[in-house]
Amino acid sequence: MGFLVSPAELELRRNRCRSAVNSLSGAPRQFVSRCNVCGSENSCVLAYNDRYGMPLRTAMCTACGLVYLMDRLTQDGYSDFYRDGAYRQLTSAFAGSVATIEDLQADQGAYARNLMCFLEGRVPRDRSVRVLDVGGSSGQVVQELAHRFGVYGTVIDPSAEEIAAARRIGLEGIVGTVEVWDTAERFDMILMCRTIEHLWDLRGSLEKIRRLLTPDGLFYCDFLDYMELCRMTGHPQTVSKVDHCYWLTLDNAPALFRSMGFDVVSLHMVPNPQFIGMLLRQCAPTSIAPMQWTQAQPAIRALQQIITDWKREPGRRAGIPTRVRRKVGRIARNAVGL
Ligand SMILES: [Zn+2]
Repeated sequence: MGFLVSPAELELRRNRCRSAVNSLSGAPRQFVSRCNVCGSENSCVLAYNDRYGMPLRTAMCTACGLVYLMDRLTQDGYSDFYRDGAYRQLTSAFAGSVATIEDLQADQGAYARNLMCFLEGRVPRDRSVRVLDVGGSSGQVVQELAHRFGVYGTVIDPSAEEIAAARRIGLEGIVGTVEVWDTAERFDMILMCRTIEHLWDLRGSLEKIRRLLTPDGLFYCDFLDYMELCRMTGHPQTVSKVDHCYWLTLDNAPALFRSMGFDVVSLHMVPNPQFIGMLLRQCAPTSIAPMQWTQAQPAIRALQQIITDWKREPGRRAGIPTRVRRKVGRIARNAVGL
């Protein structure tokens, strides 16, 4: 089959993560008993551990299809996790390499250029147009938008250091999170790039974003398609991770967004099919008609098949020289952030 992370590869990577995982064993945790979006307590547990080997269950809500961490850190636990370097240590150990500042900047630049292609023609070229980037780090993406379309850019991010960098390049910067930001400002466009999986309260955050938009405002949000990632990477435990509390799929995202008051205007899957971007506009929230078990079954069956195929994956692939195999694997993994 050729999954990106075979059982043997997962074991190897988890061994590299072991000391970082052990150091997090005392972090405060909580059990999530209900789906954050639809409120249902019906679920299918997909994995008992995340990709790093942390004992955190991943579940799929069988009423709406949202994939979520059933065990996660508390909000304070996550703050410490991101602040004290444990997050970077864990991701570097899993990837087997440390991303440099130059790598991150190049990645942000490529991301911004791709987004500009998607948004071309949809953003009026006017300084009175206000754009907010939620979780926008040091602001490269919204700066590109300001540069290309002449709009006024604002970034909100919890990192004081990143916001200081955003201010240095001429953006308005707010240190904090959108959930607690108290403002009378309204925005013509809000971006949430590579962030939705990290949210603590998905529904609460999206409801707040809706209030921050002008009536005709546009919301751009992207996500990694959980099902497609499993098809590429392997068992759900090779995909799930402590820092992603929620996962969407292409199948369930439009209904989930509609239930939170957003309609899809346009979507794209460039440059990678597992990475979906959605341009959304406000609509009246519609409640999700809870799926019956039979409706949840196709997704569960598809995952069943992936798990069966993944378990048959040979430990070593025969016939390809190791050096070539490593290089091909590295290129493929880079494409999905592994
Ligand atoms: Zn649900």
